[in-house]
Amino acid sequence: MRLVLVGPPGAGKGTQAQYIASNLSIPKISTGDIFRANVSGGTDLGKLAKTYMDRGDLVPDEVTIAMVRDRLSEDDAQDGFLLDGFPRNVAQAEILRDMLKDWSQALDLVLELVVDDDEVVRRLAGRRTCSQCGRIWHVEFDDKKDDKCDACGGALFQRDDDKEETVRHRLEVYQEQTAPLVSYYADEGILVGVDATGPVEEVTQRAMDAIRPYMG
Ligand SMILES: [Zn+2]
Repeated sequence: MRLVLVGPPGAGKGTQAQYIASNLSIPKISTGDIFRANVSGGTDLGKLAKTYMDRGDLVPDEVTIAMVRDRLSEDDAQDGFLLDGFPRNVAQAEILRDMLKDWSQALDLVLELVVDDDEVVRRLAGRRTCSQCGRIWHVEFDDKKDDKCDACGGALFQRDDDKEETVRHRLEVYQEQTAPLVSYYADEGILVGVDATGPVEEVTQRAMDAIRPYMG
């Protein structure tokens, strides 16, 4: 099964990627992991990427694509994979399609985690981080009534990233970038949306139910 997972910030994509990949016995391939592996492994691509990151610049598409190509050519990815964080746009999606075609492969499915904006705001803007131990609590889900960490007594604060206006802005950026990608895959007939609200296990279950009909 060759799968791409997309979803907005706060949809629990990283967690679902892990569960789904392990249920399907395929490697979870995230661009974050690929970057870290290349940089810490000191590969040529890693060194190149690092020159951009050290300057605070975005790593160019060609570098990301080359890293993805290397990763997808490894042995463990030959019978399937779950991609998380790539492709990010239609141009990358077309490159991925051509790359797979060169290997006589194709994507089976693109799974979109669907959560409405207000739910994402509720999840992210309710997060409070401990200033001492870094643990994250949730005002609603952890029933936090004070602003002290239950683990160490440290003061809790709201990270700038978790502020409502920042979250809303990230959602807008996501929609702008992802909407064309999602409709590209809808046109290809391989897009399936999964309701990503509710407990983690239920979302995984829904995702697996959605995937099953596409399994060869
Ligand atoms: Zn703490």
